[in-house]
Amino acid sequence: MNTPALTTALALSLALVACGTDSTGIEADGSTEAGDTEPGSSGSPQAETGTPETSSSTSGSPGTTGAESGDTSTGGTEGEDLQVFEACEGDRFELTDPNPNYVWTPNAIELVSEEVSDGVFAVYDSNAADYGPQGLPLATSAGFVIGNDGVALVETMINRQLFCQLIDLVQAETNLPVLYAVNTSYHGDHSYGNAFLPGDVQVVQHERTAGYIAEYFEEDIVFMEMNFGEDQGINEIVPVVPDIAVTDEGWSADLGGLTIAARYHGFGQTPGDLFVQVPEAEVLWTGNPLIAEAPAIPWLLDGQAGAVSTTLASVRDSLSEAAVVVPGHGRPVSLEAFDFSVGYLDALVAGVQTAVDDDLDVDATVAAVTLPDFQGYALWDWVHSVVNVPNTYAELSE
Ligand SMILES: [Zn+2]
Repeated sequence: MNTPALTTALALSLALVACGTDSTGIEADGSTEAGDTEPGSSGSPQAETGTPETSSSTSGSPGTTGAESGDTSTGGTEGEDLQVFEACEGDRFELTDPNPNYVWTPNAIELVSEEVSDGVFAVYDSNAADYGPQGLPLATSAGFVIGNDGVALVETMINRQLFCQLIDLVQAETNLPVLYAVNTSYHGDHSYGNAFLPGDVQVVQHERTAGYIAEYFEEDIVFMEMNFGEDQGINEIVPVVPDIAVTDEGWSADLGGLTIAARYHGFGQTPGDLFVQVPEAEVLWTGNPLIAEAPAIPWLLDGQAGAVSTTLASVRDSLSEAAVVVPGHGRPVSLEAFDFSVGYLDALVAGVQTAVDDDLDVDATVAAVTLPDFQGYALWDWVHSVVNVPNTYAELSE
C-alpha cells in the first residue's frame, strides 16, 4: 500500500519543521514491538492479528481487575478496586493556551462527556457547541459504553493528557473496568492513546488499520508532530498491536445489557474505517468520515470522494431517524448531519468530472470548482482546494 495520505499531507502541509523520530520512547520499528516500553502498561498486548472475533465475545473476555461478575449495577459497587491506569497516576495536567499554529492544540483541550442514552456517553471538545456551527476545528470525539460487566472505550485520543481526561470521565461514572478500546482508524488522534492502556484492555481495530500502523507508525509520528507540534507528548507514543483485528465482517461484544459493535461500511477516509455502534441505544460513532456538523467537510487525505459518499450514504441508510451520531470531531448530531457531507462529495465529484471533461488542468479545476453552497468551514482553503479537489482530479483524470 502506498501512503498517499502521508505524502499528500507532507507535501502540502504548512511549512512546519519536520522533526526526528529518535526521541526517547519511540520504538523505531513499529510493527510488533509494542508492550515492553509502553508507559503505564503492565504487559504486552496479545496479538491476534488475523483471528478476528466476529460474534459476541465471551471467550475473548479479558481478565479484569476488580469487577464481580454478578454485579449488575451500571455504576459498579463500593469496595471494588478501581482499575489502575498507571499512565494517569499522579498530578493532572494544566491546560495550556491554544497554539495558533496548530489546527487544534491537544494540551489546550478540555473534554466533556454527555450521556446520550442510558450507559452510553459521547465525549467531545468542550468548545464543540460554540465552534462547531462556525466551522472551527475541534479535537477528536470519543465515547464510552457502560454495560453490566464492564466498559468499552471508543477511541483513545492523541496523547496522555487527553487519554487521561477520557479515563477520568469514565471513572466519574463507574468503577467497572474498561474491557475494550475500539479505534475507528489508524489516525493518531484516534488511536495513539492505546499506548497508555493497561495490558488487560483489549484493543480492537480493523485489520487494515493494524497493518498500516505496523508498516507506517514512524512516518505517522513525524506527520502528527508536524501538525500538532513537538510539545504535545506525541514523542512518548509507542505502537500497539491490536488484540482483536476486525475484518470487513465486523465485530461485536456483549458488555452485559449493551452491545458494542464495530461495522465496516466501505472506504470512509482510510482503508480500515470502523463505524462503532451500540445497537440497543441507536448511538453511532463515525470517526473521521463524518468529521463534524455542517459546514465541516470531509478530509479526503486518501481521495476516493465517490467511495466516501457511497459509504456515508450506506451508514446513514442503516440507521433510524432517532439515531444519535457522534462525528469524528464534534458534538453529537442527528442523522441529517450526513446530508451535508454526502451533498458536498457528490458536488465535488460532479464538478471535477466536468473540469476533466473540459480538459482543464488541476489549477484551473481548483479555480473552477468552488462549490459556494458548501463553503463556510474554517479549513476550507486547505481541505477543499489543496487536498480534496487535487486528489479527486488526479483520480478522475487517470
Ligand atoms: Zn480525527
